[in-house]
Amino acid sequence: MESALTARDRVGVQDFVLLENFTSEAAFIENLRKRFKENLIYTYIGSVLVSVNPYKELEIYSKQHMERYRGVSFYEVSPHLYAIADNSYRSLRMERKDQCILISGESGAGKTEATKKILQYYAVTCPASEQVETVKDRLLQSNPVLEAFGNAKTLRNDNSSRFGKYMDVQFDYKGAPVGGHILNYLLEKSRVVHQNHGERNFHIFYQLLEGAEDELLRRLGLEKNPQQYHYLVKGQCARVSSISDKNDWKIVRKALSVINFTDNEVEDLLSIVASVLHLGNVQFADDEQGNAQVTTENQIKYLARLLGVGGSLLREALTHKTIIAKGEELVSPLNLEQAAYARDALAKAVYGRTFSWLVNKINKSLAYKKQKRGRRSATVLGLLDIYGFEVFQHNSFEQFCINYCNEKLQQLFIELTLKSEQEEYESEGIAWEPVQYFNNKIICDLVEEKFKGIISILDEECLRPGDATDMTFLEKLEETVKNHPHFLTHKLADQKTRKSLDREQFRLLHYAGEVTYSVTGTSYTTVTPLPDIGTMCNSENPIINHCFERSELTDKRRPETAATQFKNSLSKLMEILMSKEPSYIRCIKPNDAKQAARFDEVLIRHQVKYLGLMENLRVRRAGFAYRRKYEIFLQRYKSLCSETWPMWEGRQHDGVAVLVKHLGYKPEEYKMGRSVISFFPNLWLSHLGVCSFL
Ligand code: ATP
Ligand code: MG
Repeated sequence: MESALTARDRVGVQDFVLLENFTSEAAFIENLRKRFKENLIYTYIGSVLVSVNPYKELEIYSKQHMERYRGVSFYEVSPHLYAIADNSYRSLRMERKDQCILISGESGAGKTEATKKILQYYAVTCPASEQVETVKDRLLQSNPVLEAFGNAKTLRNDNSSRFGKYMDVQFDYKGAPVGGHILNYLLEKSRVVHQNHGERNFHIFYQLLEGAEDELLRRLGLEKNPQQYHYLVKGQCARVSSISDKNDWKIVRKALSVINFTDNEVEDLLSIVASVLHLGNVQFADDEQGNAQVTTENQIKYLARLLGVGGSLLREALTHKTIIAKGEELVSPLNLEQAAYARDALAKAVYGRTFSWLVNKINKSLAYKKQKRGRRSATVLGLLDIYGFEVFQHNSFEQFCINYCNEKLQQLFIELTLKSEQEEYESEGIAWEPVQYFNNKIICDLVEEKFKGIISILDEECLRPGDATDMTFLEKLEETVKNHPHFLTHKLADQKTRKSLDREQFRLLHYAGEVTYSVTGTSYTTVTPLPDIGTMCNSENPIINHCFERSELTDKRRPETAATQFKNSLSKLMEILMSKEPSYIRCIKPNDAKQAARFDEVLIRHQVKYLGLMENLRVRRAGFAYRRKYEIFLQRYKSLCSETWPMWEGRQHDGVAVLVKHLGYKPEEYKMGRSVISFFPNLWLSHLGVCSFL
């Protein structure tokens, strides 16, 4: 039989906290590599789960596996998503505290797969009833629909989520899932009108063309061939070997009916999908005055029917702009370039708003309906599947938003884990050596502070009448935040650094590293004009009608810029997450080729850095692995000692003291505070008799 030592040599340790050389990044990566080679894709850092995408199906997600993790303590079984899922669920049940599981990692690292597997775990293991089965079905079936409309094939992932998603699952007092709610963030709308080489538009377009019956396509005025549509040919890869659009279409159609779509609603929704394709094929030509004229009458005919708007109104809207000045409407013609821009803006607006409508519609079908008055309100478990830190050759406004989001999540991690942990030791009177960590609040402030943060300055520039450009925005930035230690531009850099920065770039020193953002061609300062609100709010397509409200036309308030909208939605998200007990899953992508059994060390080292895993480990090592309030600890373990079983009559503190002594813990292995007992990490593990090598 293999000895414990050689087994550990072969498969590494299941918790990085047990690494002898825990400050060494090389040792960290070596441990990941060993485990990955053995198909052990999950490893803990304390209670944080690190997951490496295997890029192959592993036999670890069966019903039997789920059963193995049900109700079992964290360290008694090998690391798994299910352990995290079960642990959160148990805390929710036993302590009645809302939970959230935060899943991060770069594109293709496995966030969405992890989210789906956790949902499946709850669907299989939670108590059931007829009503609950419907909710479980709807929770599961919301995924294929949202993925059809919000995911696309990119170079990094054949099924890349192009939006951030936070999903609440609500549980009743029996622990059964009874409802849900989804919040969506920053859909990548630019993909509707443009895709990079090797990438596709959102899946739904191809699914519709490939899967829909001829009669439906005829009604929508569509041809089967994606090559016919300008919005589908930019990336030159309509077909992808790993994707079956035809099959996925069937899944989506079925899912739509599970989540309560009527036939009419499906038809209205697909009419919008089709109208986006028709919009993309609208062409213009110059008239004698150099004004744009629509040359593709057929498209206008279909669009008018599908969107339920008048053809001539639509033609007018695509070739003119309306400005309201001093209470009067001024209509002026657009040139070719402007008309093409207006067309694309309309396509993006129609698709983006329909996506939000879809999320709302799903939310209605997931809404928790309290049946009896006085019933206790549901407890909530949230799942966050959101883009990780992004650093590319060329970083634009989108990366700026995504990385800002990651700064906020890091802030949350600090607030909820590091800071609160240290504060707890203090208030508990537990002797404790504070751990040094970098508090990234300074970077969050740089981005979001009122009046002098980057977003404020951006807003000012966007909404300033006149000649704001990307470069005037940059100059204003330079002026306002020039002395900030985390901000740099070409002008502000020293001789040496200057070479690596262009004039139209700025650099932020994020908690995870430097990122250089380009301001040109990225529409930092353009507030997307909405050319057709007037036309669209008269639409006879109920979804469009709902998405474009007349009040927008008359609303005199300053419009919100995209950056401010994002900032506000992030701040709401932080509030939601702050009120919950968090668990973390950090996903890692092993290679860029989407291949199994390939461990690209350079790529992985980057991710270990951006995910902040080494700091995480350092803090975990310094802290206590396990902390519990006396009453909860006693309740859970009192049966292990005859003196505390079945009931301890004295003070909770004394009962716990008797219990740990009985269990054989030495005084240096734990600390007792005012209301909490804490154990040191590796001692806690070894005492539980856990094999530390699997
Ligand atoms: P994005 O940010 O682009 O949305 P992501 O982190 O959500 O990326 P996923 O879509 O979850 O990435 O995973 C990418 C692909 O990797 C999946 O389509 C699947 O093929 C594979 N994959 C991920 N996790 C697993 C797993 N646990 N087992 C098997 N394959 C997996
Ligand atoms: Mg995803």
